[in-house]
Amino acid sequence: MRIVLLGPPGAGKGTQARRLAERYNLAIIATGDLFRSEVARGTPLGLQAQRYMDRGEYVPDEIVVKMVLDRLDKPDTRDGFILDGFPRTPRQAIALDNALAGKGRPLSAVLKFSISDGMAVKRLASRWTCSRCKRPYNTEFKRPRVEGICDVCGGQLTRREDDDEATIRRRLEVYREETEPLELYFWERGLLREIDAEAREEIVADRTIEAISDLIDLST
Ligand code: AMP
Repeated sequence: MRIVLLGPPGAGKGTQARRLAERYNLAIIATGDLFRSEVARGTPLGLQAQRYMDRGEYVPDEIVVKMVLDRLDKPDTRDGFILDGFPRTPRQAIALDNALAGKGRPLSAVLKFSISDGMAVKRLASRWTCSRCKRPYNTEFKRPRVEGICDVCGGQLTRREDDDEATIRRRLEVYREETEPLELYFWERGLLREIDAEAREEIVADRTIEAISDLIDLST
């Protein structure tokens, strides 16, 4: 199964990606996480990407596409993968389609998680992430048992630098301008299902599985 998750920042793509990866045994390729790890290691790619990330802008297509296509060559993606946060522009989508067509492994499903801007801001402004295992928390909706500490691995919870309100607003704008056009692109290819993602995590997870079954049935 090869799945793309679309949706604005704060829609819960990362949370649902983890659930799907566990359920269907898929590799997760989250471009934001890949960039943050490059930034943390101070690599040339990280330094280049950080300039854009700090402003809530997209990293240029050619940089992102190369990073993802290299990642897709790794053996753990052979039995399927989830792309979280990629593609985000039409050029990225075309590059992905061409690469997957070349390998005879086309996409199985594209899931668009929808939430209002107000909910996105609310979720992101109260989002914390475990620095060790990357599990997401939220001081409004999903509090850790001990403040600042991950329930599962005991790691420190941290906030993302681009989760301040001004940058969140810019990220939402960029999503609307650059990524929303992709919905039509995938819809025309019969791959898109939209999921109302304002509900609780478990409810959104059920809707997600339903959407996937629907698409996979249709394609067989
Ligand atoms: P995310 O963790 O998905 O919210 O991504 C964090 C930041 O990484 C974004 O605001 C962009 O600066 C950059 N980024 C992640 N994925 C992409 C992509 N597919 N295209 C361009 N920039 C990206």
